[in-house]
Amino acid sequence: MEVSSVSRHFDTTAALQDISLSVASGEIICLVGHSGCGKTTLLKIISGIDTPDSGSVFINNQPIVNGTHFIEPEQRRVGVVFQNYALFPHLTVKQNVLFGLRKTPRATASARADELLALVGLSHMASRYPHMLSGGEQQRVALARALAPTPDILLMDEPFSNLDQGLRQKVRSETIALLRQLGTTVIIVTHDAEEALSAGDRIILMKSGKIIQQGTAHEIYDHPNGRYAADFFCSFNAIPGTIKSGTIETPLGTFPVSNTELSDGPVTMYLRPSHILPVAGTDNLQNTTEGTVTGRHFLGETEELLIRTGDLQTPLRIRTSLRLPANIQKIHLQLDTDKALFFRD
Ligand code: ATP
Repeated sequence: MEVSSVSRHFDTTAALQDISLSVASGEIICLVGHSGCGKTTLLKIISGIDTPDSGSVFINNQPIVNGTHFIEPEQRRVGVVFQNYALFPHLTVKQNVLFGLRKTPRATASARADELLALVGLSHMASRYPHMLSGGEQQRVALARALAPTPDILLMDEPFSNLDQGLRQKVRSETIALLRQLGTTVIIVTHDAEEALSAGDRIILMKSGKIIQQGTAHEIYDHPNGRYAADFFCSFNAIPGTIKSGTIETPLGTFPVSNTELSDGPVTMYLRPSHILPVAGTDNLQNTTEGTVTGRHFLGETEELLIRTGDLQTPLRIRTSLRLPANIQKIHLQLDTDKALFFRD
């Protein structure tokens, strides 16, 4: 599928501004961004619920919408799973799936619905009604209904957000595994950074109707192209500083800088919470920063601590797997500035 220079305005709101992207066959894309950045509008234009002011969308090289063409939604071979699943409450599970097969001859449709229900593991619930299903089961019915007519592309709008945290991860990984097994081309809309990092072959990050960055999870997480992308995927510590002849001067001290092409001048140094390390013992305190613990959040595998240091206005947020004493107040920290990112904006 290819989206080419698509724009959509609502009065003075530019919901989409000159958006271009392509999705390869079998690819799973996560479209992410904060609320109101245009994700749903883009899905609506691809599915035919809405039309762009300008630009084109192609599926299998055929235009489905452009200045002169508009293929009706039901002719597009685009499947949609909505956030609330949109199941018909008065139809059974199987009848809901059959709804996706209205244009298929009855005998074939029934066999296909059975096949899809088996695929999502719900054969034994075929005659139940939606209110008799858990959230995860309802999600699987919606998935079966959308996949039944073998769409060219499946669009999923926040498909896991109605599920509670524990169930969400399980349903998500099972759904992704199934979609990969079927080779389905998918766009998943989410505002959950962790979900995007774990689910997609590629992530497309949007802000205010524009694409800010796209790439694999590793590319975008390790090499964000600016503060917006960095902040979206990690709670960085933002430390003001000045680059001067291969070093950075900060309120926490001066550190060597090797990993930036930026010229001398003011920058913001971005350090991940896991790249600030508590130093155990008192033997090796050279090049460490002393701080006072002001907050602790035990997370199980790791612990997050807030630490007030020197002249820095906001406390540092660190994440460690060390088991620190319960009464610890003063702490020494080593900043792994080799792994820092530097932004000037
Ligand atoms: P969320 O994550 O909250 O669902 P989103 O990224 O999907 O947000 P959209 O629903 O695409 O965002 O909306 C993009 C912008 O366009 C928002 O500012 C929204 O208020 C506006 N918008 C969307 N649909 C309409 C409409 N029918 N009329 C007026 N403004 C609209």
